[in-house]
Amino acid sequence: MSEINVQIKDGAQASLPAPVSVGEALKRLDRDAAKQALAARVDGREVDLAHQLDASQNGDTIKIEPVMPQTLEGLDVLRHSTAHLLAAAVLDLFPGTKLGIGPALLEDPRYGFFYDMIAPRQLTDEDLPVIEKRMREIAKRNLSYRRAEIPKGDALQLFSERDEPLKCELIEEKAGETVSVYYIDGSPFIDFCLGPHVPNTNKLRAFKLLSLSGAYWKGDPANPQMQRIYGTAFFTPEELDAWVKQRAEAERRDHRRLGRELDLFSIQEQYGQGLIFWHPKGAIIRKQMEDYLYAELVKRNYSFVYTPHIAKRELWQVSGHDQNYGDSMFAPTKLEETEFRLKPMNCPFHIGIYKSQQRSYRELPQRYAEMGTVYRAELSGTLHGLMRVRGFTVDDAHLFCMPEQAQKEIDDCVDFIKDVFSTFGFDKVKFELSVKGSDTSKNYLGSDEDWEKAEAVLVKALQRLENINYERMEGEGAFYGPKIDIKIEDAIGRLWQLGTVQYDFNLPERFGLEYVGEDNKPHRPVMIHRALFGSIERFFGILIEQYAGAFPMWLAPVQVAVLPITDRINEYAETIGRVLREAGLRTEVNLRSEKIGAKIRDAQLQKIPFMLVLGDQEIEEGKVAVRERSLGDIGKMTVDEFIRMARSLVESRALVNEVTGAESKANN
Ligand SMILES: [Zn+2]
Ligand SMILES: [Zn+2]
Repeated sequence: MSEINVQIKDGAQASLPAPVSVGEALKRLDRDAAKQALAARVDGREVDLAHQLDASQNGDTIKIEPVMPQTLEGLDVLRHSTAHLLAAAVLDLFPGTKLGIGPALLEDPRYGFFYDMIAPRQLTDEDLPVIEKRMREIAKRNLSYRRAEIPKGDALQLFSERDEPLKCELIEEKAGETVSVYYIDGSPFIDFCLGPHVPNTNKLRAFKLLSLSGAYWKGDPANPQMQRIYGTAFFTPEELDAWVKQRAEAERRDHRRLGRELDLFSIQEQYGQGLIFWHPKGAIIRKQMEDYLYAELVKRNYSFVYTPHIAKRELWQVSGHDQNYGDSMFAPTKLEETEFRLKPMNCPFHIGIYKSQQRSYRELPQRYAEMGTVYRAELSGTLHGLMRVRGFTVDDAHLFCMPEQAQKEIDDCVDFIKDVFSTFGFDKVKFELSVKGSDTSKNYLGSDEDWEKAEAVLVKALQRLENINYERMEGEGAFYGPKIDIKIEDAIGRLWQLGTVQYDFNLPERFGLEYVGEDNKPHRPVMIHRALFGSIERFFGILIEQYAGAFPMWLAPVQVAVLPITDRINEYAETIGRVLREAGLRTEVNLRSEKIGAKIRDAQLQKIPFMLVLGDQEIEEGKVAVRERSLGDIGKMTVDEFIRMARSLVESRALVNEVTGAESKANN
């Protein structure tokens, strides 16, 4: 019997009699790791724990790296193995089901795996709990995932005897001379698969089936229609629970549903997909966002501009958009002999303003800001509420400066972005430095030297920030230069990509931009593109979900609801409403003949921050009874006291309604 040397990653070594399974070898090297491992890498190759090590490796030490829980690789193995368990349960319940493929999903936050199949009858949502139950039963029996390598001919025979034409097709296409097949011993399931998988079904303790959808074999509508079962799996029941809760929370906050319920916006098929209608209540919020931003821009010495929505195609050829970004633009339209294209970005227009006259170094930087509406030819399948649309408005700005001014301008942009997001309650901000990658098919403009210089400026701006790390993203730069992308984490831990700061040395070159320097000679300026919200539509969608529709006082479309208890005091209620409006508070007076309970419930559903309840007693005392949407009844105060409190919440842009000035309810 021969001996082999094994070593765990860079740790313990042992000499063992061969052949020995990876699992057994691991036990000798690290008991704990052996217990937890889902699979392993042996000399870099992913294998099952049952994989046999023999002496054929020229006496070299065999390096074993366990694939552990709480790693992405481990999650991949776990979810893929759970997809097999799903197929086993379906076969058990519906013999004759033809199986397609069943991969793990790691990127899509909605799902963890799927399996495509054609069952003898159409499956429905009612089948999912039944299938899930059977999966649990199989998992509990602790069955082994067993791999076998058989000649291709035998594999084809095996799967054709089992009447699995899709598997046969895959084997014909993909298999070499030998084929690896997997059994879940004791279940009717056999798969053509490379693995690896967990050693046994006992490892699968936290999974859930989620939904059913249609799918085509290999994604081609010409192929047979299949059914896809989606599910997810985690390492522990606690993780699954947390995920289920977050998913429910995300559904509760879904901006498309809240947008409808709160009458904020709509998208109307008959006008075109991906085009946003801002309803009165949504428009108020947008106006507040824009007003706030304008005030901040004034503080920072920006100028405001307005530019057209369409321009000659030639212009987009000079800018490079036509060649490098043309697929995302609406097709050209012709008028007389000239072709025009809708703008996908505002940059060339701001260049037009810069170029309209000779610029001296004394006038720099020029900072042009615009709420610039742009259009992008997004495919219908990718559209999603406010998050992905075809027409949107960018809170855009372009800064033209001397190269030696670029560092300060970029530093200021980064600080500006941080300020703005914390106003909206996003304190967890993540920065990414997106640079040119090695992929030459990506049409980057400009020399390597220019790219390096620009990158150095961005890196410096990021390194200045305390307690903030940034991630370097290779190949994610814009076609005209590197950029800083800003992501924020929302109230339920989801990351959203928002603003961007981009250092551009290309467009100034392409458009021949100049300024006259101190030496009286022409020089080339640097152009900085920057947006904070990015798309206002998208940022609005994120805000709806962040606040779950309960906007802070300064943004709330209706800030105060005045609710008379009886019709008799409607007139008095209207007077109060007028006083509040004159004080600048957006107020609705509910004069409907309804019980006060119904009026409160309605205001509550509309998530109005404050309700003033008026009855005879309040009139007599010259006070109003105040309810706050999440605190409930907070006591009585005079109208003046209420106005003072409400205005201070608005002016400070408070995220939470801290209540002051009310008599405590207990004293009444
Ligand atoms: Zn598999
Ligand atoms: Zn731009």
